[in-house]
Amino acid sequence: MKNIKNLNIMNSYAEELHEISEKCPPKGFKKAEIILKNYSLAEELGFEKDYLDSSDCLNVFAGNKILQDSIPIAQGYSGHQFGHFNPQLGDGRAILLGEINKMDIQLKGIGQTPFSRRGDGKSALSPVLREYVISEFMHAIKIPTTRSLFAIKTNEDVLRETILPGGLLTRVAKSHIRIGTFQFAITKNSQILKTLADYSIDRHYRDLKETDNKYLNFFAAVSDKQASLISKWMSCGFIHGVMNTDNMAISGETIDYGPCAFMNHYDPKTVFSSIDHNGRYSYQNQPAILNWNLAKFAETLIPLVDEDEEISIKKLSEVLQHAMPLYQEYFYKEFAEKLGLQTIDNKNIKLIKSYIKILHSDSIDFTLSFRDLAKIVDESIALEDSVFSKSRGFSTWYKSWKKEINVSNISKKLNLRNPCYIPRNHLIEDALTNAINGDMKDINLITEILKEPFTEKKGFEKYSLAPSSNEPFITYCGT
Ligand code: AMP
Ligand code: MG
Repeated sequence: MKNIKNLNIMNSYAEELHEISEKCPPKGFKKAEIILKNYSLAEELGFEKDYLDSSDCLNVFAGNKILQDSIPIAQGYSGHQFGHFNPQLGDGRAILLGEINKMDIQLKGIGQTPFSRRGDGKSALSPVLREYVISEFMHAIKIPTTRSLFAIKTNEDVLRETILPGGLLTRVAKSHIRIGTFQFAITKNSQILKTLADYSIDRHYRDLKETDNKYLNFFAAVSDKQASLISKWMSCGFIHGVMNTDNMAISGETIDYGPCAFMNHYDPKTVFSSIDHNGRYSYQNQPAILNWNLAKFAETLIPLVDEDEEISIKKLSEVLQHAMPLYQEYFYKEFAEKLGLQTIDNKNIKLIKSYIKILHSDSIDFTLSFRDLAKIVDESIALEDSVFSKSRGFSTWYKSWKKEINVSNISKKLNLRNPCYIPRNHLIEDALTNAINGDMKDINLITEILKEPFTEKKGFEKYSLAPSSNEPFITYCGT
């Protein structure tokens, strides 16, 4: 591994897309300390282990020192927030330092930028730690996501409803280009839009570069990535909470962990966000919102696909029509794997649907159901001691399911596919409260457990349990 001083920091976005970003050197936090360090991600990026413990590292990632060759910027973007268009969003509290090994290195919570509007540009510590824990868990269960390199305690207060300790996250992403970035570019002019599309293709969809009608293919490729991503969210009960167009990355990574959470007992209407009164971003609505967001994305590409607007719309609409069937296919693929089913035929689709119906009608814990299924089939627990104990439909379903699976090794297979530990709110909330009071023990432990979420560990039973009550847990944007 190289010392960061020898690592090339590139500024391709700052250089090629200066019309839609603003130079913005960070002011920094002089009393900051790093409280979570992601050694394995640092290694992937090429950092030396010693460097992570140096004062230079702290100064760079607390925004007190600008790396040589870095051009810090705030990125502009627009967005549909809960269906309403806001042309002027942008990085109001984040600064992009540049790219290391082709990955964006961003400081989130760094203070005011030209896009801050009335905000202070800062973050409280608790949501920073929450994003760190949840994004790294998503990575552990192989769901594309932005990563978290450092969680930093600024040792300065932020004023929200109350005074809270401040935090800063080093976020690492394939890029921070959002559907909203395209919506912003098009408010400038079509040349900037084209530059952004070419840049995005070059960075994320290189094999499309030389294809006929690459912009249409680009739309199809982003739709595919997003459809796959949302199917993966559904497969682990993840509810993003704010699927606004500015929170959808064109790379297909999960981005912006705000009021997100994982469903406990299966209820498709589950929504955790305090601001989502109509359930727009509930669990069951995520695929429909995917489609809606892709339609907004398609609108931005109209000027690029064909000179004739009507032809452009027709071509983009044709691709958009495939998004939901594509999503459906991915969804069944995910659930077939979760249930150890080898093929996706009508019989197995029926099995998947009836399994979900059982979870729904009997309010069964989503995550535990798959683990208990593995235990029932290898007879390590009796049906009466499982989450299915009160279910009337389960026994019949189980018999049909057993006919379709290859019984040898099935429990092992299920356990490799279905996590036993997830970041359940009732667990991480207490750990976060302790952490902001200076006790990092629990949050460190949870971070460790969630690195290997498929491996059941003796002595850590409480971390796999569902909450004792089905009362909904409310999450806040936590900005
Ligand atoms: P988010 O909820 O993180 O998706 O943010 C939505 C928009 O509000 C983005 O443009 C953010 O940059 C902006 N924003 C969120 N929090 C702040 C803050 N504390 N100060 C300034 N802008 C913010
Ligand atoms: Mg956002």
